Amino acid sequence: MISSQVLSALKPVGIPNLGNTCYINAVMQALASSSALLTHVSQMPHSKNCSQSSEKCLLCSLEQFLALLSTSNSLEEVNFRMKSLLECIYTNLPLFTKGSQEDAHELLISLINTFRTEPAYNSLFLGQLCCQIRCQDCGITSRKLESFSVLSVDIQHAGSLHTSLHTHFHEEYLYGTNAYFCSQCKQPSSLAVKSVHIHSPPEVLFIHLKRFVYEERQSKKLTHYVDYPRQLDVSAFIDKVSLAFDPL
Ligand SMILES: [Zn+2]
Ligand SMILES: [Zn+2]
Repeated sequence: MISSQVLSALKPVGIPNLGNTCYINAVMQALASSSALLTHVSQMPHSKNCSQSSEKCLLCSLEQFLALLSTSNSLEEVNFRMKSLLECIYTNLPLFTKGSQEDAHELLISLINTFRTEPAYNSLFLGQLCCQIRCQDCGITSRKLESFSVLSVDIQHAGSLHTSLHTHFHEEYLYGTNAYFCSQCKQPSSLAVKSVHIHSPPEVLFIHLKRFVYEERQSKKLTHYVDYPRQLDVSAFIDKVSLAFDPL
């Protein structure tokens, strides 16, 4: 249980919108809300051993900004530092251009990749998913591990994160036109069961709600409220069986 004292200490200050930067602000608030990340930033910052200046190095600039967000209550100071962080983002990540509205999820992935260039941060953000498919004809199960740092889940038919996660990790039946080609049977399986589980969770888990869907060749934004708990228990989605197997 997190005490209210700790919660208020974690609460980041507001960030001014400096011209279509709301998507950057949202990502910075999400990063600054992670106590594990802030602990890493304060205890083993990359900037200690970096030869570049924080104006040029995006990771240095991020560390500096997150440290400020977690300690300062001064909007003026945040405003000032935000300007230099923005310049650093636009210079280092050409996908994001000054003044234009971009995608928060894409920025989050780019920033996580930036963090992951530093080994200490890599373990913080890196998890593994295990995808397994069982051919019902021969009974053989194939397993494949893949790395992930952001879990993207559908919310079109979900009013809560709980429902969305259960749907995401639900078993799927493959047959007919969607049949699985079994390497043991050397032919399409008449029925196969596919399931995805978390093999090893990252220390910091990011969940991305897919608010954009494509219907009749058009992109539509889902604006409905998605309920989420303050504490999320993901143990039901962790593959206890696959933990007994060596990584493939
Ligand atoms: Zn640096
Ligand atoms: Zn088979």
